[in-house]
Amino acid sequence: MSNEFIEEKILEFTRKGDVEKVKFIRSLHKRIMPSQLDRIQKNDKGVYHELFMPKWFTWEMLRAWAENFEAPGRGKKCILCDTKSENGIDFNERFICENCFVRLKQLE
Ligand SMILES: [Zn+2]
Repeated sequence: MSNEFIEEKILEFTRKGDVEKVKFIRSLHKRIMPSQLDRIQKNDKGVYHELFMPKWFTWEMLRAWAENFEAPGRGKKCILCDTKSENGIDFNERFICENCFVRLKQLE
């Protein structure tokens, strides 16, 4: 399952004029708490029922969405250590977290 799956769904709904569904997917992050997001990513299907998702938005879609979702404010993925961080620098359009940046500086 990839981000393309969700993007394809959004395209499909857009073509059909299902604006509400597109809006729903685009604003999904507002109704899901970080702890719930973690559980979705861990394949805990219970969350799906807790969230009272509309029938057309299947568990499969929720999973695909969660797998690719980058929560705003949770930072960017560092190209060196692969962890997300809020503090760091953008270097040639790539992100280096503060920890790695400090380590690099020490190596100089
Ligand atoms: Zn790093």
